[in-house]
Amino acid sequence: MLDVEPDIDTVVAEASESVAAFGDRARSWLAAHRTDAPRDYGAILPPDLADEARVWQRTLFDAGFAGIHWPATVGGQGLTPEHDAAWITECAIAQVPPFLNMVGCVLTGSAILAFGTPEQQATHLRPIITGEVVWCQLFSEPDAGSDLASLATRAERDGDEYVVNGQKVWCSNGRVADRGILMARTDPSARPHKGISFFLIDMASPGVELRPLRQMNGDAEFDEVFLTEVRLPADALLGPEDEGWMVGMSALTNERGYIGASGISLQRRLDSMLAMGGGLSALDRQELAALWSRGTALWAMGRRQGPVASVLGSVAKLGTTELMFDTAVLRADLAGPEAMLEGDVADALESAPGARIAGGTSQIQRNIIGERILGLPKDRPPS
Ligand SMILES: Cc1cc2nc3c(=O)[nH]c(=O)nc-3n(C[C@H](O)[C@H](O)[C@H](O)COP(=O)(O)OP(=O)(O)OC[C@H]3O[C@@H](n4cnc5c(N)ncnc54)[C@H](O)[C@@H]3O)c2cc1C
Repeated sequence: MLDVEPDIDTVVAEASESVAAFGDRARSWLAAHRTDAPRDYGAILPPDLADEARVWQRTLFDAGFAGIHWPATVGGQGLTPEHDAAWITECAIAQVPPFLNMVGCVLTGSAILAFGTPEQQATHLRPIITGEVVWCQLFSEPDAGSDLASLATRAERDGDEYVVNGQKVWCSNGRVADRGILMARTDPSARPHKGISFFLIDMASPGVELRPLRQMNGDAEFDEVFLTEVRLPADALLGPEDEGWMVGMSALTNERGYIGASGISLQRRLDSMLAMGGGLSALDRQELAALWSRGTALWAMGRRQGPVASVLGSVAKLGTTELMFDTAVLRADLAGPEAMLEGDVADALESAPGARIAGGTSQIQRNIIGERILGLPKDRPPS
């Protein structure tokens, strides 16, 4: 592995590289280096792959494939979101992770780029793309998931610091994270969406306690996080005080865009299932053809729009994770009783429900699509 930074002049020169030429360069590089990558684990970094994945991220940085559309001034490649989309596509085809983890490289990075002060950008961005600092997301609470605005964790100003108390849950890769993005209530008297602030928290701070949660597939990728009298410096605040809802929603919109863009690897799985076609019943063949058509439509949409940071990300997220679920069910049906044993098929079946929930559930994506794309009346809370 080289320990050199990408040369700024080269980076600037490459800004004029076409997306197609960049894609070709990425494909050749991946063909030569894909064996250095950990297995393609998707958006959530499994704790047992954390060390290997940090080395992979550093390798990507050294080779000029990290922070592709981030500015060169923070260590990025200064290219466009379309180049970034081409990178994600090539990685999906090569079946390698495109970056260390989505929370750091997508959610945190985009939030700091959009809302960070020059000091925050200088401090935090480069270590994300060199793989030095892993980030986790501390948004959900036991009583605040889809209805995130009801979050109750408090951050009270005390001189130059904020004092945080509360509980978070479903924190993916919390145990291996150095830092976290945290949403907490700074003004309890304000309306739910107001009075929330967005913080950058050091996970080694005194008062942060993590407890692993065991999933039905046997893994423990999530943690409950208890925050007791955690003191954050004033410069841990990202964006304006009490305006953290806006920062959080921008981060979540980016997350959905990226989850939606992962449809390409799913389409490859469906392609490989087509090879079984001859041995299937007429009914199974019909089901497979329907899934394959949905996958192809999503793949085409993904190629056109890439990982979008807009409400369109909800369409891609919904389509991709629902297809992932239906594909896992069909694979299990085809495998018969063997699907109940340990292995790929069982893993996919047990993980697929989580994908429909993470980053905002399918029902919530349908609400967003209905209200913000189709212009339907607003969802009303149950009476
Ligand atoms: C794999 C995975 C990774 C995750 N990683 C993280 C993480 O790193 N950090 C983090 O903070 N959180 C994380 N989460 C949590 C995730 O964001 C929440 O689980 C999700 O927002 C749903 O919240 P909830 O679990 O409280 O369900 P609830 O909000 O209680 O929803 C329960 C059910 O009611 C439905 N529902 C709720 N409101 C409505 C409505 N208005 N209209 C229609 N239906 C509705 C939901 O769709 C769902 O089916 C993760 C979750 C998963 C599964």
